[in-house]
Amino acid sequence: MSGTFVGMPVFPPPTHPAFPKAAHDAVNNQTLRGNLRHATHTIRAKREKAVTEVSDWAELREAGKRIKDHTLRHLDRYLVQLEESVTAAGGTVHWACDADEANRIVTRLVKETGESEVVKVKSMATQEIGLNEALEEEGIRAYETDLAELIVQLGKDRPSHILVPAIHRNRGEIRDIFAREMSEWGRPAPDGLTDTPAELADAARLHLREKFLRAKVGVSGANFMIAETGTLVVVESEGNGRMCLTLPETLISVVGIEKILPTWQDLEVFLQTLPRSSTAERMNPYTSMWTGTSDEDGPRAFHLVLIDNGRTDTLADEVGRQALRCIRCSACLNVCPVYERAGGHAYGSVYPGPIGAILSPQLRGTASEIDASLPYASSLCGACYEVCPVAIDIPEVLVHLRERVVQGGPVVREGNKVVLKPAKGHAAERAAMRAARWAFAHPGALRTGQRLASRTRRLHPRTLPGPGKAWSGTRELPQVPAEPFRDWWQRTNGGKDGAK
Ligand code: SF4
Repeated sequence: MSGTFVGMPVFPPPTHPAFPKAAHDAVNNQTLRGNLRHATHTIRAKREKAVTEVSDWAELREAGKRIKDHTLRHLDRYLVQLEESVTAAGGTVHWACDADEANRIVTRLVKETGESEVVKVKSMATQEIGLNEALEEEGIRAYETDLAELIVQLGKDRPSHILVPAIHRNRGEIRDIFAREMSEWGRPAPDGLTDTPAELADAARLHLREKFLRAKVGVSGANFMIAETGTLVVVESEGNGRMCLTLPETLISVVGIEKILPTWQDLEVFLQTLPRSSTAERMNPYTSMWTGTSDEDGPRAFHLVLIDNGRTDTLADEVGRQALRCIRCSACLNVCPVYERAGGHAYGSVYPGPIGAILSPQLRGTASEIDASLPYASSLCGACYEVCPVAIDIPEVLVHLRERVVQGGPVVREGNKVVLKPAKGHAAERAAMRAARWAFAHPGALRTGQRLASRTRRLHPRTLPGPGKAWSGTRELPQVPAEPFRDWWQRTNGGKDGAK
């Protein structure tokens, strides 16, 4: 089988270099920088306009946050309700604790149909578990039908953005990929294909149409699941999703357990905030909803595979759990100065940018080089929090995860358990923190140390030696005052010591 798709499954943790090393080449790639800058600035400006025209945006944002928090607090109850609703509507629910189990379930379901091809709606969950690769190992070919995912798949590439997976490619590169690769996967690109958007879209439409008409099995994710009726919702812009959800005889949806909403009324909030935050549209061009199966129309069999894959561990963390509110709009990526320069591949995950920096280390643990470095892939400017439609305080979670990396050592999965391992690195930082704790707990020693530092201040080096050199090389070290604050206070306040 040719045209192997290279993906980034979540478990086991990837052997990927730490973020600074992975970002090094991208930062020096002028073409990539240009593509990213143009795309993120364009989407960012459009989003700003689309959000500003909604007078109650702040209230919608708060409502979205509250609905998600309430649902996560009662997730056990709503998941059981969802299973009952889906089953009553003629669907079958499968539970997968990790990526391997989810892949085994989907592979078995496809094999039971006797088919060796599936068409896919764009889905982060299936990328997270590495479904395409797992199917391929079993001789089943998965065709991506979203235009950007098609470009990524044909280019043997990896997605670099949640919403626009081929954001790192320009039109010329896309034309070359279509001309070179389409014939390997089905209908070839037309002769003399140019890089005009209309011609590229036409080539993709013709290439994909034969797949839609032939496929007997569709695989999707879902943006939302409604517990009260068992309804799944997919929002998209191209109509390929509608084809995959309605034409095949069997539909398999792979969805993270956090995508649940209690009622239809809750959905109303997110159908307003998601399109404006992601594509800057007032509403999505295609919003597809389905509830189980129907004799008259659509797939005859419907399977819902609910995946945990690190989500309940994330839910157990009081600070980090807010990451599970994420509706994958990608607004945080488009405003992030780090993402704009490093691009998506450096994050070593299907979830790049600010949300990836807090979600991947929680879903996968911080045992790998890349996951331990992701909480540092941020300037903590807070732009991501400002635009997030469900008010995830990403900087707060980043700082929390940095603390976990430094203090607690890596958090790793061992079987079904999450385990804190002793930290290997950052020994100097931990020793410095221990020394500071001791000094603050002994005021007499602190005062003596401050006086000594003041008297010897002309001898202090301007840069630190050894491992501290890189740190001090990019910072102005603070000047030690000629007189410690406490001595000054005592002298100017008639001998009274301000210390308690
Ligand atoms: S963290 Fe917020 S802004 Fe970023 S993708 Fe998720 S919902 Fe959107």
